[in-house]
This record gives sequence, C-alpha cells and structure tokens, in this order.
Amino acid sequence: MGGRIKTPAEIEKMRASARILRQVQGALKPLCVAGAKFTEMDAVAEDIIRLAGAVPSFKGFAGFPATLCTMRNEEVVHGIPHDVPLEQGDLVSIDCGVLLDGWHADAAFSLVVGGPTANPGREKFQQVVYAALQAGCGAIRHGVRVGDVGGVISQVVRQGGYSICKEFTGHGLGQELHEDPHIFNYGNPGTGTKLLAGMTLAVEPIVARGKPKVKTLADKWTVVTVDGRDACQWEHCGVVTTDGFEIFV
Ligand code: MG
Ligand code: MG
Repeated sequence: MGGRIKTPAEIEKMRASARILRQVQGALKPLCVAGAKFTEMDAVAEDIIRLAGAVPSFKGFAGFPATLCTMRNEEVVHGIPHDVPLEQGDLVSIDCGVLLDGWHADAAFSLVVGGPTANPGREKFQQVVYAALQAGCGAIRHGVRVGDVGGVISQVVRQGGYSICKEFTGHGLGQELHEDPHIFNYGNPGTGTKLLAGMTLAVEPIVARGKPKVKTLADKWTVVTVDGRDACQWEHCGVVTTDGFEIFV
C-alpha cells in the first residue's frame, strides 16, 4: 500500500519539525568525543526539542524510554542510551525523531569519535553507508518503485563489501512515525510500491560490517550484531517530488 500524499501545508509542517532535528544533530555532533556518554547527549537532545515547543517522537513510542536511539560499534539500531564512555575510534550512530504540531521528522547520522583518522576502517564503512543513503535518495522521484530505491542502496553496500540488515527498513512518515510504504534497503528494479510526488518518506540503510545476523539485548530494544562486528545507520527524511526527493534532514 502506498503512503498518503501530503498537502503543501502538511509538507511545510514536516520541514519545521526537521529544522528542529537539524538543530539537535548540530548540537550532538561536537559532543561525540572520547569520554562522552549517550545519556548526556540524550538530555541535551530532549532539552533542545522541548525548548522548541516540540516533543521527542521516540520517547514513549511502544514504550521506548529515551529521546535518542544511540548505537556504538556492534549496536545496530534502537539502542537505549547507555553510560559507557565513548572511546577514540568508536563508531557512533544517533537516530532521533521530532514531533512538532502533529508532524514527525526522523533522521540519523553516523561518525567516528575523534574523526576519520581515529579509525580509517570504520570511517570507510560509515562513508559507504552514507553513500548508499545518498544513492537511494538520488534514485527517488515521482513514479519510481520501492524496488528501484532498495536496489540502488544494496548495490552500494555490496560493492563496499558490507551487508544489509534486512529486518530494518525505511518507511513512510507523517502524522505517524511509521506509515506505509516500507522503504526496503534491497529490492529489484521495477518492483514494489510506486512512489508518488507528495509522499513523505524516511530512507535509512542499516548495515553490518560483517555478517548481517542480529539479536536483541535483554533491555528488549538494543539490537546488536551476533558476530560482534560494527553496524551503522544513516537516515534522511523528505518528500518525493516530480523530479527528485527533497531532503528535509
Ligand atoms: Mg530514525
Ligand atoms: Mg526511521
């Protein structure tokens, strides 16, 4: 099933949510240093969101307890912020959602603590996941199908020598955090739901550096790789247009 087409006024509301999320990301990136803790970043993010008159989308969603999903190294997605101090060379992915005036924004970024030279292998990995996201977003325009997008994403990931964690997908986004359609990170060109101008989507490759098998920890949220190797998530949200995909954040 396809996602509902949003009106220009609704799209403008999502841009406003995304502006707050961009502010959150801008504040968090410089905090990702050796010794920092995800719990501290979570408090910073929640403050920014609430001061802007918005609400953290994730907090309370299906019982999730925090503003951010925070992932370090082998943590894949849905990480509950923990107190483990970050170390130089750690791979960090941070996912956040903002609900303003009834409309969600949802996006994630990834980086290496201490910068690219602190761990070149991890830097290359996260850059390939970012490139996969860019390629996927670049494939979107009115009339393409979900399989066209997923096919491009998986091709970039495979060429880098990494694996898609297929359990997790992008999604439609709007008044609900997860709407139709699923935006798979794999697929065959010309297949799947047709994307139409005015659909608002989150595109989010979730990738393992080794084998893609995952498990959920006893906290019932944090997903980790079974082989203990790194994972990475990047995510943009935006709107399908007649000739492309306008990225909100
Ligand atoms: Mg997200
Ligand atoms: Mg999402």
